[in-house]
Amino acid sequence: MSERVYQGIGVSDGIRMGKAFIYRRAPEPDTNRMIKQEQAEQEISRLDRAVEHAVLEIDELVARASKTLGDDKVAVIKGQKTFLSDPAYCPQMKKLIQEKLFSSEKAVREVTDRYAGVFEGMENSYMRERAADVRDAGNRLLQHLSGADCVDLSKLDHPVILVADDLAPSDTVRLDRNLIRAFVTRRGGKTSHTSIFARSLDIPAVVGVQDIMDGVTDGEELILDGNKGICIASPNPETVKDYHAKMEQERRMEEVFRRYAAQDAHTHDGKRVIAAANIGSLSDAEDSLKKGAEGVGLFRTEQVYLSRKTAPDEETQYQVYRKIAECFGSKEVIVRTLDVGGDKEISYLGIGKETNPFLGYRAIRYCLDRKEIFLTQLRAILRASAFGKLSVMFPMISGIQELEAAKAMMEEAKEQLRRRQQPFDESIRTGIMIEIPSAALMADVLAQEADFFSIGTNDLTQYTLAVDRGNEKVSYLYNYFDPAVVRLIHRVSDAAHQAGIPLGMCGAMAGDPLAIPLLVGLGLSELSMPAGSLAQAKYTVSMLESKSCGELAAKAVNCRSAGAIRDLLQEYLQKHGEQD
Ligand code: PEP
Ligand code: MG
Repeated sequence: MSERVYQGIGVSDGIRMGKAFIYRRAPEPDTNRMIKQEQAEQEISRLDRAVEHAVLEIDELVARASKTLGDDKVAVIKGQKTFLSDPAYCPQMKKLIQEKLFSSEKAVREVTDRYAGVFEGMENSYMRERAADVRDAGNRLLQHLSGADCVDLSKLDHPVILVADDLAPSDTVRLDRNLIRAFVTRRGGKTSHTSIFARSLDIPAVVGVQDIMDGVTDGEELILDGNKGICIASPNPETVKDYHAKMEQERRMEEVFRRYAAQDAHTHDGKRVIAAANIGSLSDAEDSLKKGAEGVGLFRTEQVYLSRKTAPDEETQYQVYRKIAECFGSKEVIVRTLDVGGDKEISYLGIGKETNPFLGYRAIRYCLDRKEIFLTQLRAILRASAFGKLSVMFPMISGIQELEAAKAMMEEAKEQLRRRQQPFDESIRTGIMIEIPSAALMADVLAQEADFFSIGTNDLTQYTLAVDRGNEKVSYLYNYFDPAVVRLIHRVSDAAHQAGIPLGMCGAMAGDPLAIPLLVGLGLSELSMPAGSLAQAKYTVSMLESKSCGELAAKAVNCRSAGAIRDLLQEYLQKHGEQD
């Protein structure tokens, strides 16, 4: 085949070469469908066939797993078979099909949820864990009912470039960075959560490539260029040679940046800027320390929830948070409370489908409604705070009432721990993300109640410009250099300085070398980013001069367009000697 170039949106830098691996996920089953009376018999045969296939599949898996996995893992897989042959599980589904005219999918969902709910309500933690097995059994049945032949990513055994229609955050957390060299997807935007996870894993990625699924064949040779946002299929020898040279150049620049990684970030004239990391797990924490993190500006705790089938209990969360606190010692770790919803679906949390998920039941709104889930997390964070320097940060605060309600929950969690006589850091700081325009506009009021602010430009950009951050069709409008966004940052900075509270940023803008002079000029004291960006960011900060950054920022807020702001910044960096 001849060389073809596919253009998309580069969301995680780096160049990789390798063979394509096409990943197709099973379509979402319709679990609301009803049937007609005369279809009942046929529907029951469909269900019987799906059960038969699921049992055969489990037998195969057990045979394979016995050779490679421990007895405990094999027992978990066998557990699913027990449910399929339970005298009530499948017969109850058939009853619903016959008597209530549910489709097989609807019956499977209904009975599985009911069963899982019973297990989840049990005292014994071993029994509670069984809820995940019932859900697995149910999902396996749904997959066989859809007849989809879906590939299991965990079965990959050689390095590839993953080609997919889309990857859900729950897929990305399972990606093995040793086997996935890079990925390219048809959907997605620059700051969709899939892209964010790719950056945190340091996996080069391109999203929003319209015809990638039909254009590329399994096993075909690919070059993925995350810097330019392109994917080249069957590259000709000239292109391969060019790219080898580019990869070599990239390696040399990384060596230059690496020299700055171990130093604290400060400008040429000595102004201190904290270069912190965005993390989602203990392994991210360890990795970011090696790459020069001076703390954590954003710990996305939802990743602790995403990699599981049931909600993590207090003890499980406490163990993770404590290890991360210990890892950073006296360096601050800002733990963001659960930010679920939007494009992060965690099925067991029961958010359900929404018409406008980014404007809906998300983050702090969910937590203030599901008080037990919120209190469990707050207690776990507080307990871990006794072992390091943790701070708590609430996401998606839109106004003062929400902040007061969240702080009241925090007080309640503290009181519960005091009653249990469990220690925690009594002086723990509580801050908020500024990522909704209303919060930016009311920052002076919010600053009276918050110990710090961290600007989330990923959401602030989407809400200010009314551009879905994950929609490739409107990604041309998504731009954090838009003067509307820059003016809001300026306003938040004024409010934070007036109130004397620290101001950081943890959205993608903070790790963009082009944006850094502007952010320093706007008075931000902490920039938090994926670990892979730290070395270059510290290098960029080291070239800046704080006074001229201030002048630059004053000019930027008066620009008419994102293009004008970019030009200004490019000119500044050229003058101050950035090498590209
Ligand atoms: C943001 O919105 O900028 C942010 C950091 O939070 P998240 O990307 O997790 O929504
Ligand atoms: Mg956000």
